[in-house]
Amino acid sequence: MSKNSPIFHVVGGGLAGCEAAWQLLQAGHSVVMHEMRPVRMTAAHKTSNLAELVCSNSLKSLGVDSAPGRLKEEMKALDSLIVRAALDAAVPAGQALAVDREVFSNFITEKLSQHKNFTKIEEEVTSIPDAATLEETNSYWIVSTGPLTTPDLSQHIADRAGRKDNLYFYDAIAPVILAESINPEKVFRASRYGKDQREEPAEPECGDYLNIALNKEEYTNFITAIEQAEYMPLHDFEEPRYFESCLPVEVMVSRGRETLRFGPMKPVGLTDPSTGRWPWAVIQLRQENKEATMYSMVGFQTKMKWPEQKRVFSMLTALADAEFLRFGSVHRNTYFNSPEILNANLSMKNEPRIFLAGQITGVEGYTESAAIGLLAGRFAAGSFKRPPVATLMGSLLSYVVEGGLGLFQPMNANLGLLPPTDRKKGESKQEKKARQCALAKEVFTNYLSELN
Ligand SMILES: Cc1cc2nc3c(=O)[nH]c(=O)nc-3n(C[C@H](O)[C@H](O)[C@H](O)COP(=O)(O)OP(=O)(O)OC[C@H]3O[C@@H](n4cnc5c(N)ncnc54)[C@H](O)[C@@H]3O)c2cc1C
Repeated sequence: MSKNSPIFHVVGGGLAGCEAAWQLLQAGHSVVMHEMRPVRMTAAHKTSNLAELVCSNSLKSLGVDSAPGRLKEEMKALDSLIVRAALDAAVPAGQALAVDREVFSNFITEKLSQHKNFTKIEEEVTSIPDAATLEETNSYWIVSTGPLTTPDLSQHIADRAGRKDNLYFYDAIAPVILAESINPEKVFRASRYGKDQREEPAEPECGDYLNIALNKEEYTNFITAIEQAEYMPLHDFEEPRYFESCLPVEVMVSRGRETLRFGPMKPVGLTDPSTGRWPWAVIQLRQENKEATMYSMVGFQTKMKWPEQKRVFSMLTALADAEFLRFGSVHRNTYFNSPEILNANLSMKNEPRIFLAGQITGVEGYTESAAIGLLAGRFAAGSFKRPPVATLMGSLLSYVVEGGLGLFQPMNANLGLLPPTDRKKGESKQEKKARQCALAKEVFTNYLSELN
């Protein structure tokens, strides 16, 4: 190795770190991986294997007309180690790619460990050398320490980013709904007291929010459904320490049946044009992306089980056929405000030799984390062209580095992140999805041919 050859350090041997390391090795670089297990375990990991799956053994759908399916296709075309391992370890699960978790982790551990340019150090990293040292030693660091990053390191990265408020510890996620699946006849557009975020004066028929009006009886039934729904249990390490301003709906309901009506469901200042009055209660839907293809349910973070969310929220006629792009959740998750602190190539604005990857960048899920690891590895390895936003990887990256509207919250791969396209006359929802996926495939194929 020449004196000036760069050295790449990858902190965290999870889904993202292993993928990033693999991409760097394939590009001919040397990689030093720092993984703290088994010296220090996380509250969720049980082994010292690389790329351990901490919960479900599913990497979601393989369907070519689905976002997770297309994402994996794109990753496979970019020589993803994680997708290769998953296909090798696959167990029968219909359209889903479920794996034998041990075979999966062993495949990855072996592939990396057997590589002559790969070294693994078992240690907890609490800080990264300063910028001058990185320059002097020509080293680059990829931090991919996941949702359970140790506190010293997460604080250190926040400090290096220069702003402490760029580090989040909890996901309190409200459901996100595909815009076209909301019944437009059952919502009215308005902002509270007509105060829009936009500069121009609000017209009666405009406003930043779609509002679902509930009368007294509908509200009462809805609250009862929330009380009676089934909820996810808390993990041992997830003490219920919620931010008062971001309480799960069920916690608010447990404080009294009227609490939501004085909280996220308060109707004041929202005149329903069909009655000319404020309703009994209101659920507000807020635009999630610039293209207005996704809306989130304001204040509806919840630990309700996913099928229960579908059942309870579909009681509202406006959402009877709603397609949930992301369900609500509340769990421990360390992630950064990436649009504020990262460049388009996932390196830190303040520290171009440090890259972030995986779930800490604000994506959610095994495959998504690996996808961002793949991109970080390729970007760090040298000149790599960013995938177009009309592809699954490109749209996910774009969400991470550019963000959506409002507070930056973790996101999984979904077709709502792609550039908007209207449903053609007579086209079913499924046909539209297939068309979006076919278009994404075409754009990705062109992109690949330009890469090679
Ligand atoms: C309880 C729980 C359940 C989940 N269930 C699912 C699920 O069912 N399906 C799904 O798709 N996703 C699930 N997720 C999310 C999933 O874990 C992540 O999307 C994915 O593992 C993230 O990949 P990653 O590489 O970013 O982080 P990880 O896979 O978590 O890898 C991070 C690695 O960094 C190491 N590390 C942490 N701090 C340090 C340090 N300071 N120094 C050195 N090493 C360090 C850790 O030991 C770990 O090996 C779950 C997460 C949690 C916490």
